[in-house]
Amino acid sequence: MADLVRLVQQAGVVGAGGAGFPTHVKLGAQVEVVIVNGAECEPLLRVDQQLLLLEAEALRRGLAAVVEHLRPRAVYLAVKTKHREILHTWEELLAPLGGRVHGLGDFYPAGDEQVLVYEVTGRVVPPAGIPPEVGVLVMNVETLYNVSRALEGQPVTHKFVTVAGAVTAPKTMRVPVGISYAELLALAGGPAVKEFTCLDGGPMMGRPVADLGLPVTKATKALVVLPAGSRAARRAGTPWEAVLRRSRNACEICRMCTDLCPRYLLGHPLEVHRIMRAFAYGGDRVEPEDHLAALLCVECGVCEQFACPVGIFPRTVAAEVKRRLLAAGVRYPRGRTGAGVRRYREGRRVPTGRLIRRLGLDPWDRPAPLDPVAVPSSRVRVPLRPPFGAACRPVVEAGARVRTGDPVGEVPEGALGARAHASIEGVVTAVTPDYVEITAQEA
Ligand code: SF4
Ligand code: SF4
Repeated sequence: MADLVRLVQQAGVVGAGGAGFPTHVKLGAQVEVVIVNGAECEPLLRVDQQLLLLEAEALRRGLAAVVEHLRPRAVYLAVKTKHREILHTWEELLAPLGGRVHGLGDFYPAGDEQVLVYEVTGRVVPPAGIPPEVGVLVMNVETLYNVSRALEGQPVTHKFVTVAGAVTAPKTMRVPVGISYAELLALAGGPAVKEFTCLDGGPMMGRPVADLGLPVTKATKALVVLPAGSRAARRAGTPWEAVLRRSRNACEICRMCTDLCPRYLLGHPLEVHRIMRAFAYGGDRVEPEDHLAALLCVECGVCEQFACPVGIFPRTVAAEVKRRLLAAGVRYPRGRTGAGVRRYREGRRVPTGRLIRRLGLDPWDRPAPLDPVAVPSSRVRVPLRPPFGAACRPVVEAGARVRTGDPVGEVPEGALGARAHASIEGVVTAVTPDYVEITAQEA
């Protein structure tokens, strides 16, 4: 399938699970194992588990093309064993491809790429490494769906998004890229509580939405509404000064954050309690020799949202330290190996049910049925700055008429990125370095 990489590149496919990494680059790797990541481990999210049944045939076609292109020795769909119908359906679908379903326990973060690679293959990705370094390609379910559409010449114009948490009618929708968070919220009946915080993404790894007028990107997986007062909302709204003060005053150096960290449990030298200690006594200064391990943090939130007995902020501190190190040009040295998988790892995985109760979200853990019919929108702002890679250069001007799927942004020559396409038909009403605005109009 010589054309696969080109078709995927032209269609602007990126990792739809939140990372946004350009998929055509991933498909350039040489691997022995392909894993379709159907773990969907973030609480309240309901996209992949429904796509695996509603769009099974499209996904099978996409996977067949990936297998023909990469010719791996083994192919897996990794999905939680609690999804019995998916398991049965996909055991049959995978058999002609020589693939198998790998059943996962119901724990968080089962869908973390490195955790998943270990669970399925027993291989450990080295610290700061990526799965192809151990011969594995991991692809999210919705990304595979977009690969399948790319085979038919269909670019990425829409996104499946779960709107969940404290909303009137939780649902999963197919919406045009560039629709606003406010529109999404209204489509789910609006908030069900007076005071709330919105996250782009799940309650563990989602980012607070500063402005509901901002657009949904190709990597948006969910809009989660956290009721004010829930543990998750309190943490999302804590200012940095308070994070700092409480980290200094309250950390007991009990190392529970480290002992439950999924990357530490894989043997990576990420001891987040040491980062907390160095930071607390270091006067808000970041020293590469003390803090280098923060570069290994994937910001999964286990340490902060689940492990810490005094409710302080190891993830927030590690993420800030990582941001400062990256800004200073510091990178984790390549070639270092981990200490080997900790022997008590299995007993320290975080059960999803307990996590949801700890977050205070059990009243909001409800179905969010998927409607595969695309939601219409009268105005979109198609982002030109992807979550990963170079910003697109706009290739349309205000006043231009566009059809759904027309390119509106191109990746600069030689840069790593993904094209942007019109997600509705209409007239371009604004072009900025951040987005192309399209307003639907009668033809
Ligand atoms: S779990 Fe909390 S109190 Fe214990 S070492 Fe980590 S940050 Fe400090
Ligand atoms: S957020 Fe905490 S638990 Fe997760 S990888 Fe980072 S240090 Fe480990």
